[in-house]
Amino acid sequence: MHEPNIPTLTTADPQVAELVHAEAQRQFEKIRLIASENYVSTAVLEATGTVLTNKYSEGYAGRRYYEGQQVIDQVEQLAVARAKQVFGVEHANVQPYSGSPANLAAYLAFLEPGEKVMGMALPMGGHLTHGWSVSATGKWFSSVRYTVGKDTGRVDMDEVRDLALAERPKLIFCGGTAIPRTIDFPAFAAIAEEVGAVLVADIAHIAGLIAGGAHPSPVGHAPVITTTTHKTLRGPRGAMIMTDAAHAKAIDKAVFPGLQGGPHNHTTAAIAVALGEAAQPSFSTYAHAVVENAAALAEALVERGFDLVSGGTDNHLILIDLTSKEIAGKPAAQALDRAGIELNYNTVPYDARKPFDPSGIRLGTAAVTTRGLGVEEMRLLAEWIDRAVAGEDAEKIAMEVSELMAGYPMPGFVS
Ligand SMILES: *Cc1c(COP(=O)(O)O)cnc(C)c1O
Repeated sequence: MHEPNIPTLTTADPQVAELVHAEAQRQFEKIRLIASENYVSTAVLEATGTVLTNKYSEGYAGRRYYEGQQVIDQVEQLAVARAKQVFGVEHANVQPYSGSPANLAAYLAFLEPGEKVMGMALPMGGHLTHGWSVSATGKWFSSVRYTVGKDTGRVDMDEVRDLALAERPKLIFCGGTAIPRTIDFPAFAAIAEEVGAVLVADIAHIAGLIAGGAHPSPVGHAPVITTTTHKTLRGPRGAMIMTDAAHAKAIDKAVFPGLQGGPHNHTTAAIAVALGEAAQPSFSTYAHAVVENAAALAEALVERGFDLVSGGTDNHLILIDLTSKEIAGKPAAQALDRAGIELNYNTVPYDARKPFDPSGIRLGTAAVTTRGLGVEEMRLLAEWIDRAVAGEDAEKIAMEVSELMAGYPMPGFVS
């Protein structure tokens, strides 16, 4: 059942309580490979469920629009101080509700409607909020997109530079949702400087790896860094924007009063807890283990004939093009889910299929590494993935999966 236990909820609203327990059980039994997900600690869970949710605190510490901020100011200042310490930045705003509004704040801070943004194309691994057409950022701003090489699966920095010189965007995003390789922050910074653009490093996926020293940091290269707090960073659902001193004021004004009302103080407290955990030596061990596991899983998948975009991975994420296995991404993801292995179907670069029925699947090792799985288990995992994708008995695999996972404790659950 869920841990911490929820006795009051069970009495007050058994229907909701039952769903919470069922989801905890599901998360315990499955191998969770969705690259943007993780398991937060019990301490983070507890912080999110506190009376801090009762408080309104529009504004920033010492400059609020409501009274009674004696405690909330300290909570937010603690989260800010820890963000600055963990990432080595001059300024941090911990109020964005999530990654998408955090990115929108960067537009509001540095662009007028209709001005130009450059980001990685969504089907190449970028994010909706980097100027993709269906997003407000693509509708209200003019956008240009860079791609990855058809043969390499990697961003070609010469192409990015040529596009930037031709299009002169005012804002450039680097980072994305399906990038298995190291992001070259210095190269992006040089291009942004050459064309006079503000560089935003969106580190939503890799923030935990950066905090743990398992991916190079954008600090000193990108003046603005946006991130979610709930992916590899292993905090509550939320976001932060980190900047140098020169860009601090514009970002703060954009978040509030530009876009948002009152910050979610229970989330801010949980972000502070997660950042406290990320400052520990054990988190660096975790971040490196995430990368080692991804490398081991990638190697084992390649041995089994899987075609990995870019040929492998440098981080927590693997993108598989299933064309050679003669199955599309969606039926493969569904077969894997039946086999107890949870991931998402995903577009691969230059996908011949449609976005809602693409050729690939995306995997990440952040959650399974939190559970304690290691390199040995990654080989087993590759075998299960191979069997499930080939259409072998899903129920049998699901049984083997839940037997394995029963040996690995999960924060948030006791059996
Ligand atoms: C997840 C993600 C976001 C958006 O975060 P939400 O919290 O889902 O709004 C933005 N950018 C990147 C690169 C992401 O991976």
